[in-house]
Amino acid sequence: MNDNTSWDSLVDHVARIETLRGVMGTLGWDEQVMMPPKAQPLRGAQRALLSRLGHEWLIDERIGGWLADLEGSDDPVRRACHRNLGRTYRREQRIPAELVDQLARARSEGFAAWIDAKKHSDFARFAPNLERLLELSRRRAAAIDPDRHPYEVLLEEFDPGTSVASLREMFARLRDGLTPLLMAIADRPQLPELGATFDPDRQQALHREVAAALGYDFDGGRLDHAEHPFTTGLGAGDVRITTHITADDLLSGLGATIHEAGHALYEQGLPHEHAGTTVSYAASYGLHESQSRFWENFIGRSRPFCNWLAGRLEEHFPEAGVDAERLFRASNRVERGLIRVQADEVTYNLHVIVRFELELAMFEGTLAVKDLPEAWNARYAEYLGVRPESDARGVLQDVHWSGAAFGYFPSYTLGNLYASSLGATLERELPDLWTRVEAGDFAPILAFLRDRIHSRGHLDEAPEIIHAAVGDRDHVEDLVSYLWARHGALYGAERG
Ligand SMILES: [Zn+2]
Repeated sequence: MNDNTSWDSLVDHVARIETLRGVMGTLGWDEQVMMPPKAQPLRGAQRALLSRLGHEWLIDERIGGWLADLEGSDDPVRRACHRNLGRTYRREQRIPAELVDQLARARSEGFAAWIDAKKHSDFARFAPNLERLLELSRRRAAAIDPDRHPYEVLLEEFDPGTSVASLREMFARLRDGLTPLLMAIADRPQLPELGATFDPDRQQALHREVAAALGYDFDGGRLDHAEHPFTTGLGAGDVRITTHITADDLLSGLGATIHEAGHALYEQGLPHEHAGTTVSYAASYGLHESQSRFWENFIGRSRPFCNWLAGRLEEHFPEAGVDAERLFRASNRVERGLIRVQADEVTYNLHVIVRFELELAMFEGTLAVKDLPEAWNARYAEYLGVRPESDARGVLQDVHWSGAAFGYFPSYTLGNLYASSLGATLERELPDLWTRVEAGDFAPILAFLRDRIHSRGHLDEAPEIIHAAVGDRDHVEDLVSYLWARHGALYGAERG
């Protein structure tokens, strides 16, 4: 077939798959934001139908021919499409339908068992399900590529282009860099919490103002309330964010809005003109997370940002009398806790590293499922200095394993690593960065991210996009230095 006819057919077909993905995303958003509870079974049937349709379109055998025609193309978009679509096509083709069914069943049983086990704080109730999920995931990895490390095959779904070896190396150095900082901070007097209440309706207005100031386009999005905040990119012109506002925790709600706005700015800045080529999508979960965490932490918890925010607060809540110093200190409290989702910037990555090390050990066969709670508790004691008193607040706290989402956790820490190198680069290239932030002028920051990250879509793999954006930087050193500079200084601790 003529190359261009073949390419046009491919783009047509992939655009249909992407449209379907947007439809499913809309249903998912509706489910979490608007849907009445009784609609659950109906929605389940709707989603199952669309999933089946999407799978059929993804294993369409014409794709193999179109991919063959793309072989050796010089065009960057076609080359990227060959890589991205080829990977998805091979994965979908190689996993036997029977295994897909077994996994779907194991996931729903696993979820129910996890809920029950967590409620009774009894890991043994979940252990057989976890064994089964691990075994099926190993088989799934072997079906996709029997010659690679099974964990890397699974990791590829979230962070293609990242190797187990590079994670192992970076995470070990990060762990060894963070523990001394945490120990030094733990010896110092604790910083105060904000300790004030703020009317939720008026908070909403503040959140909208902050998201708009960062550059979030409300004509192509919405801000709604959800139990667990998330962002959903449905395609060009429709990228929605959600947040969770409570009267007594201004900073956590605002942090969530800024975090989701960071994800949304990425989605709004993707190269939508390349729809139908796989290139108009984010390059990886880790890169996505780098965008949310860059805004939430590097910018949103900085002293200059707090100076700006204090002015906005003064306008929305004149009676509260919260100044910038109080905001800054309350935003950067460090606490050695048990729960990942409540963790601060310093301890967060240690929570992720524990999970990564244990997942890897289970896949490599050096840790048996029955020994998991003890291994978990021992690592928490060693890295964080706290020991869970129960399985519910320890090994059972996260839902991910019940859905066989092995290889997902590293994305969170990869995001922090990438974000710190982006921050260091921006500080070097934009000398008046912090004066701009203090003035509420975020446009040059967004322009930098648009140029280096967002507009690249999935042309290259995430590690290549980051490398092109920041050059030869040591992400681990960037993150550890940044945390020392902000939290070490706030607590009066010196890097030894
Ligand atoms: Zn996120």
